[in-house]
Amino acid sequence: MGVLLVLLGTAVGSAVAGPDAAAWGALGAVGLWGGLWAVAALQGDRILLATAGARRIEKRDHPQLWNVVEEMVLASGLGAVPEVYIIDDPSPNAFAIGRKPERSAVAVTTGLLRLMNRDELQGVVGHEVGHIKNRDSAFMMLVGVMLGAIVILADLLLRLMRFRDGRRSRAGGQVQALVVLLAILLSVLAPLLARLIYFACSRRREYLADASSARFTRYPEGLASALEKMGAFYGRRQGTAHRVLAPLYIVNPMTALAATGLLSTHPPTEERIRILRSMGGGAGYVDYDAAFRKILRRSVIGARTLSAEGASVPVRAPQPGEAPRPEEAAAPAVATLDLVGRLRGLVFMTCPCGVGIQVPAGLGRDAIRCPRCGRDNPVPRARETESIPEAPLEYRRAGAGWESFQCRCGHAVHLSPAFAAPLVACPACGRKIRVIPGAGSS
Ligand SMILES: [Zn+2]
Ligand SMILES: [Zn+2]
Repeated sequence: MGVLLVLLGTAVGSAVAGPDAAAWGALGAVGLWGGLWAVAALQGDRILLATAGARRIEKRDHPQLWNVVEEMVLASGLGAVPEVYIIDDPSPNAFAIGRKPERSAVAVTTGLLRLMNRDELQGVVGHEVGHIKNRDSAFMMLVGVMLGAIVILADLLLRLMRFRDGRRSRAGGQVQALVVLLAILLSVLAPLLARLIYFACSRRREYLADASSARFTRYPEGLASALEKMGAFYGRRQGTAHRVLAPLYIVNPMTALAATGLLSTHPPTEERIRILRSMGGGAGYVDYDAAFRKILRRSVIGARTLSAEGASVPVRAPQPGEAPRPEEAAAPAVATLDLVGRLRGLVFMTCPCGVGIQVPAGLGRDAIRCPRCGRDNPVPRARETESIPEAPLEYRRAGAGWESFQCRCGHAVHLSPAFAAPLVACPACGRKIRVIPGAGSS
């Protein structure tokens, strides 16, 4: 990829000021890469977290998630606890960023917290801590920025060739025509090739993080089962995650199961699960590499890591209470509900076309247009009612899932699938609102 970059720079240099400037062009290309990288390195993390709508939390906000992160930091020998972020998103996913372990962050969605049991959550967090430990975000940022530089240069070269073509004299002859042809070929092929390399790097890093997760948790089934749940979720609908962030997530939210082959940042989820489940009672890097070889007929883990570990690492027993009873399963949902309410005053709604819409509470509008289908959806709110003196407001649930609506005061009130009480108090003004069960509830 570096070769492509220098080659493009050389070509741009010669195109602008003749063959003498070729070296300057190459130098400029590397300079462009360095400049882009510096901007990304200084600001990239903050921008990514802001784009994802991630909010930083403390231990008291979600003790279980915090404990799992701490366990994985200990198991990995990371040496620093990453910042923990939560994203208001019903789809289950997670990502990690940070060039150094001391300045890293793990972000998980509320959907992940709701859907996963402890072992599965540990598997996912183990994968993300694995990315930090393997310095993947630093590496992928470097490669990603190089891809960006190559795309910019190729575009520049193509424009230059067109410009030259227009005013080219007949004197140049066949040699010049050949040079022009080569330059055009380069400007078209270089970005494609660079993309393929980028995707291949990204896929390998995903496998390595899976192996790290199995090793840190000593329980490959946790991650396998988590990936299965995520795959099933995205098999049914599109994720709401931002497109730019897609390669970062543990499961690509845009095309979790469909994305295969050379033009994908993630390996097929089914294949990742199959490898994790073929580890034959082992949880170490040696076991992962053996399972990988069995399925894909090649090795994935570096020889140094393999020889450092030497032998297979036995799998631990599943954690007690792995299959939570219904009332226990409801508990984390309520905890997440509180958290979402505290993090952001947003009303979540789903358009009949399937798109999730977030409306800032107190927006003062009665309806919101769906960005996909253009339908106007009424903003859910509590209505005034005369029928019950102790609760002058009521809200009729649409179904039995996650729901939020606006209180009279303009604050967002969130209901979880576990909510069964007849009244809910607005977290802002304290007004009691009667909740009438919807059609889909039992
Ligand atoms: Zn990953
Ligand atoms: Zn209120």
